[in-house]
Amino acid sequence: MDIPAGCRHPPGAPWSGTALASHEGARIVTPSISSIDLSSLTLVAWEVRSRARVHGPTRVGCAVLSIDGGIWGGCNVEHRFRSHDVHAEVNALSSMVANGGTQALALLVAAERRRFTPCGACLDWIFELGGPQAFVGFQSSPVSDIEWRSAEALMPFYPS
Ligand SMILES: [Zn+2]
Repeated sequence: MDIPAGCRHPPGAPWSGTALASHEGARIVTPSISSIDLSSLTLVAWEVRSRARVHGPTRVGCAVLSIDGGIWGGCNVEHRFRSHDVHAEVNALSSMVANGGTQALALLVAAERRRFTPCGACLDWIFELGGPQAFVGFQSSPVSDIEWRSAEALMPFYPS
């Protein structure tokens, strides 16, 4: 199935899942996201990852589910001056904003790594556009389980 980097599931419908599970400590949580949205997040994150522009070894894709039901993708876009690199999470969040989204409910990060968390700068953007309760998921292959944590669990002392 070929899904563009930005899409909306279901068309025009607001996200209707219930909000959040427990976010204590760094526990893995189970977000109440529909299976359709989970499948779409996985498809978009891995599809957009294939278009990453990398100088380093790691291709990263990210799909954002906005609170109004939009799903937006972004990949890492690396510059030869590495300080200019655009990370997948920021790319996806920027795509959400560019398409009219205002708040991120969940982000799924796709990378062929054993362990992964967004960097501090990306977490700044996740807090800015999703808040401490935003779900951040990581998937190491398109068929792997997704580990979900809240942004707050990933950075528990972030100033509110
Ligand atoms: Zn980052």
